[in-house]
Amino acid sequence: MDYFQIMNSACLDVQLDFNEDMYNKFMQYKDMIKEWNEKINLTAITEDEQMVKKHFIDSIKIFKFSPLREAKSIIDIGTGAGFPGIPIKLVKPDVDMTLLDSLNKRIIFLNEVINKLELKEIKTIHGRAEDFSRKIEYRQSIDVVVSRAVANLAVLSELCIPYVKIGGYFVAMKGPSVEEEIKEGKSAVSILGGKIEDIIEIEIEDSNLNHNLVVIRKVKETPKAYPRKAGTATKKPLK
Ligand code: SAM
Repeated sequence: MDYFQIMNSACLDVQLDFNEDMYNKFMQYKDMIKEWNEKINLTAITEDEQMVKKHFIDSIKIFKFSPLREAKSIIDIGTGAGFPGIPIKLVKPDVDMTLLDSLNKRIIFLNEVINKLELKEIKTIHGRAEDFSRKIEYRQSIDVVVSRAVANLAVLSELCIPYVKIGGYFVAMKGPSVEEEIKEGKSAVSILGGKIEDIIEIEIEDSNLNHNLVVIRKVKETPKAYPRKAGTATKKPLK
């Protein structure tokens, strides 16, 4: 399979340029995931074609939310092995990217990726999302917060919305149960200062993925009471 070709057409579909240099970095990243996955648990997907489609192209398709192309700062909450944050950085190198995860082994891996791929204006944070959004330098200071496969929308909103600037966005990458999650999470979104603006369907050729982007705009300040102590959002989701 011609991975350059399918990644190039995914980029074209979201009006982004793709080139040989980006492609080589994606392939280096893929090799590092496979190598490190033998020692630490990074992903259940290890086969090349699946990795390209279900991790790389799925992450690139977040640009279906077109204002992302204008973002100057992005934070990826619960980034794991770097999804969607690393692919976003590779196709939009001018963005200031922060990758946050509570699992240190994954952060060590990501630091190695950043070094090997010689990425600039990108940093990692090891910690709980709920702890960093209370710090002045992160609170309501990021243009767009992104997150994939971390928690349901009610919980995730408390982890993510406090980071977003007023007028900025939180884009949650969600699976097929999006309607249900919105029903249960929309009150949490509103309490935290967000407003659900759009749901964008994502299609990936020759794949059975059914993904949706939930686009939340930050319309007012997050009340000082949020996020609650680490772990509380999961135990007692906002209603
Ligand atoms: N976003 C990646 C992806 O789509 O492949 C990883 C998804 S993985 C299922 C969930 C990740 O979220 C894990 O790496 C976990 O350590 C992290 N995580 C869960 N709760 C978190 C929290 N409260 N703060 C920071 N990271 C968290």
